[in-house]
Amino acid sequence: MKRLILAACLGIGLVNTSSAQSQDSLMFRRISDEIMLHGTCYDNLRVLCKSVGHRLSGTKAAEKAVKWGEKAMREAGADRVYLQACDVPYWYRGKESLELNVNGQYKKVDALSLGNSDGTNGRTLEAPVVMVHNYEEFKALPEYAVRGKIVFFNYRFRQDYIFTFRGYGDAVKYRVNSPNVAAEKGVAAVLIRSMSTGEDDFPHTGSMHYKDSTRHIPEMAIGNKTADMLEEACKKGTVTAKMNSECKMMQKMVRSYNVIGEIKGTYSPERIITVGGHLDSWDVGEGAHDDGAGCVQSIEVIRAYKALGIRPKCTIRAVLFMNEENGLKGGQAYADSAIANKEKHVIAIETDAGGFSPRGIELEMSPQQKENVLKYKHLFLPYGVYDFSHGGGGADISPLHEKAKVPMAGLLPDSQRYFDVHHTNNDVFETVNHRELKLGAAVLSQFIWLVSQYELN
Ligand SMILES: [Zn+2]
Repeated sequence: MKRLILAACLGIGLVNTSSAQSQDSLMFRRISDEIMLHGTCYDNLRVLCKSVGHRLSGTKAAEKAVKWGEKAMREAGADRVYLQACDVPYWYRGKESLELNVNGQYKKVDALSLGNSDGTNGRTLEAPVVMVHNYEEFKALPEYAVRGKIVFFNYRFRQDYIFTFRGYGDAVKYRVNSPNVAAEKGVAAVLIRSMSTGEDDFPHTGSMHYKDSTRHIPEMAIGNKTADMLEEACKKGTVTAKMNSECKMMQKMVRSYNVIGEIKGTYSPERIITVGGHLDSWDVGEGAHDDGAGCVQSIEVIRAYKALGIRPKCTIRAVLFMNEENGLKGGQAYADSAIANKEKHVIAIETDAGGFSPRGIELEMSPQQKENVLKYKHLFLPYGVYDFSHGGGGADISPLHEKAKVPMAGLLPDSQRYFDVHHTNNDVFETVNHRELKLGAAVLSQFIWLVSQYELN
């Protein structure tokens, strides 16, 4: 990063002088102290989780979450708070059940329909279960072996990948695409082992996508323990299942909103730094880690700057995006508006990887810009942040990155526990630690301060 004129005015001095470095680390300390001692993000998260709860796009709860977001932005002291309209899909879950017959007797197990999928229309679908471990095994089977049956895609989340987002990236196609693969051979419905690192039985929901407009077969996820049991039973003999679900995608789109709060920049207010997470969640648990944490951390940036009297050179814009989970309409509306209004975005930063201890910052930008950020890497070490090796940023800001070529970054927390709770009934406030959440907000605020203070390119 190049120093701007204002840096000299503030007496910070020239590039990489030791006094500039100590000024920088002092500012990092001030930001961290403010958030660790007086941060309100944890309290905000409690209110969001306990008074709104889960908030799938298009629901009344999502509407309530928008009101909560507006209020929280105002309380944080944003100079300007406003809503940005976007039309979102509404997927309805309804009642659902799964029973497995393993020893000559049906037993109900925990299961969740996958988001965006169509269910059994409230009718019971009973069929034998055919287990395969992956797509290669499925493709090798003749059509008569699977036609009219329920196929169980028993693909395990790779526990040997230390960076669990890599494991998720590896496994997630079995959630998103299995009904498409299976429908080609006349399969009646699909069961999947959840995209889960957990040693438990929580089923994980999440989005799927039908490619074919005619054959929409149902898809349900089961937790790891039930999947282990089903695997054993399938090895021993014939298993049948009864599936019943009412879920469906509603035809009409629903008007919803991104919530935006700004601090106006002093030196170049037309230059914008966007930081955000997504306000919607799946319709299970409380969306605490995914992504209530990211929302309250983004609001915390505004609050901390105001409390410290930091007047950033660029405009800081905290955005609570709508509909990340099953449509990305908020992220698209944001990018479209930025392009239509010819906005100048310095960078867009996302926090949507859980409220755990920050370990790094993902950087998706030119090699030169990356190099400029890395000059300041040492400043983050006292906060346990050392990993700048990953690319990426986040789904909500990806349309802005793709369409307007805006550099992108993402807060990277410790990933070991995220896929235990992700998209489950266990993603609740109680699983978020107040220090870890606040530390993430502090690191975000520090990073934004650096980018605002110095040029990226
Ligand atoms: Zn998320």
